[in-house]
Amino acid sequence: MHESCGIFGVFAPGLDTARLVFFALFALQHRGQEAAGIAVTNGESLEMFVNPGLVSQVFTEDDLASLKGFAAVGHTCYSASGARRPATPQPILEHNGRWSLALAHNGNVTNADALRDELQASGLVFRSQSDAEVIAKLIVTAHGTTWEEKLSHALSRLQGAYSLAILTPQVLIAARDPMGVRPLSLGRLDGGYVVASETCAFDHIGAQFVRDVRPGEVLLLDAAETSFQQPRNGRRAFCVFEHIYFARPDSTVEGRLVYEARLAMGAKLAQEHPVDADYVVGVPDSATAAAIGYARASGIPYREGLLKNRYVGRTFIAPDQRLRDLGVQLKFNPLSSLIRDQRLVVVDDSIVRGTTTPHVVNLLRQAGAREVHLRICAPPLRHPCPLGVDMASEWELIAARMSVPEIREYLGVDSLGYSSLPGLVEAVGLPKELLCLACFDGDYPLPVQMGLSGLAAESHAK
Ligand code: SF4
Repeated sequence: MHESCGIFGVFAPGLDTARLVFFALFALQHRGQEAAGIAVTNGESLEMFVNPGLVSQVFTEDDLASLKGFAAVGHTCYSASGARRPATPQPILEHNGRWSLALAHNGNVTNADALRDELQASGLVFRSQSDAEVIAKLIVTAHGTTWEEKLSHALSRLQGAYSLAILTPQVLIAARDPMGVRPLSLGRLDGGYVVASETCAFDHIGAQFVRDVRPGEVLLLDAAETSFQQPRNGRRAFCVFEHIYFARPDSTVEGRLVYEARLAMGAKLAQEHPVDADYVVGVPDSATAAAIGYARASGIPYREGLLKNRYVGRTFIAPDQRLRDLGVQLKFNPLSSLIRDQRLVVVDDSIVRGTTTPHVVNLLRQAGAREVHLRICAPPLRHPCPLGVDMASEWELIAARMSVPEIREYLGVDSLGYSSLPGLVEAVGLPKELLCLACFDGDYPLPVQMGLSGLAAESHAK
């Protein structure tokens, strides 16, 4: 499952803003490993550096030294082979007369194609398929004599999910869609401001978390902080997969430490699907906390049964078919002597297509596990996501095609237990009406048309 993008912005005169963005992007690397970029302002013009690759590969010391400015934005982006469109490195730089900006986006604008057609018809030329470019062009060409007016007009045209960090020559802007699908947080640093997809980025640069940017809020940050609120006609729809999988466990998302939410997911699974076993094992890293939660609630000891090679990045390209077939083995290694002859509860975050899990189960069996009881934090995924998560078309989702007993048999596990939807919501600790749960219950927070292979609402990879 692929989510798209980590964004960061800083307004901090007197500090090395490009380097701050660089370190913040390191913290957000899990949200996107295809490309990274930084834009800075010196008060008159914007400078930018973007390239494909991991943050550590993209920027040299000389690149960072050349990016001088009192404010900056940065972006890490994701588009793996399964993504519908290639990744467009961001920030996106856009000019129109005296208006210029660099824009970093996380989300999916579902009416981007219609807006692109409209802008092209007015004579604008696009360089990419990215909806970030649509948003950027929409803002710089919108009516208005101030950024507030232009943003107000442009953002009111967007449908879907967006969290934005925008840099103009003078001001840093943060904006979040009225449904609040993707996270965006505000912090302070040495009298200045920072915004980030996740609070873990603040911790790494010594910034203090202040609050989440509110759904529909637009913040203009310079020496002062001003904001306005877009009309909120629809419902709230924070993506519950941030707590299950996307966000780092040390981030606080919508007021809840992700690690705690995952502990609670594991505890709920232990209540809903108890089993007699010797050890609880988590599939690292996203399910480790949930496995510990299961162990605590069940009284079954937790044990590390799989080690993850963290240096096999998501951009890793296996050079030949033999290595590609190894797939999961390149990523995980079972601790054979610890799991041989043991009955294991194995906790994982989710099952999407069901292509990876059988390999993990095989690894454990080959290492001698006597029983494998699989417990999944997410309820069965039966509906595709229209809001920017490149998960799969409906026909690819294993739970849309098979019953739970059929999936158990297909995966070759001794028992299989998914979290219930109420159990998940209780573990996340947010009211159900604030969450998007559409990939489980099909209750989409915006109108979508089901097509033969999924959703007619566009899903762009950023
Ligand atoms: S459909 Fe699922 S993955 Fe997509 S935004 Fe909603 S909860 Fe998140």
